Amino acid sequence: MKRMPFDASSARVAPAPGSVPPNDPVEQLVHLLSRLPGLGRRSARRAVLKMLQDPQRLMIPLARSLEAAAEAVRPCRVCGNLDTRDPCSVCRDPRRERGLVCVVEGVSDLWALERAGAHRGLYHVLGGTLSALAGVGPEDLSIQPLVERVAGGEVEEVILALPATVEGATTGHYLVDRLRPLSVPVTRLAQGVPMGGALDVLDDGTLAAALRARRPA
Ligand code: ZN
Repeated sequence: MKRMPFDASSARVAPAPGSVPPNDPVEQLVHLLSRLPGLGRRSARRAVLKMLQDPQRLMIPLARSLEAAAEAVRPCRVCGNLDTRDPCSVCRDPRRERGLVCVVEGVSDLWALERAGAHRGLYHVLGGTLSALAGVGPEDLSIQPLVERVAGGEVEEVILALPATVEGATTGHYLVDRLRPLSVPVTRLAQGVPMGGALDVLDDGTLAAALRARRPA
């Protein structure tokens, strides 16, 4: 029986002597925060303690800010970016080269490329990479919408800015195959992206160099 939606597994076992019951709001907060990237339980606990020591200046504004963002931000129906507007501000920007579409694994990569200011075109967020191991197939990613977008005729070049991992390479090969009948040039990032590296942890210069040095996929 699931008693608490946030942690059914711990609800089934009797709490250890002196431990906090699972419906404790502080423990709930630690649990939720520790699910965020870069935050383990230890740092989540430190963050919660910091907030509890100054609820008026930290905790309540954070709660309002979280709620406002959750209500206002949604995926762009064109590219998959997260923004308060749909289509997103990148897709709406008239200064962008509309024929240049950069394909990324996730929104964090799109934001990293935007921070680097290296890409003057538009984007397409796949929402992941193909992985037989993790059971991620083409239908789980935004691949068909990409094919339709390219088939629409406005796209002049597709830049694959995928992670330098086995999954990234597999996804790249698959996209090249799917896009080949459309006769639109497909390029990919070359030098600068380390093996096993995620795009959003690279420095701006490395990202910009990798984008400039792209070559046919
Ligand atoms: Zn967009």
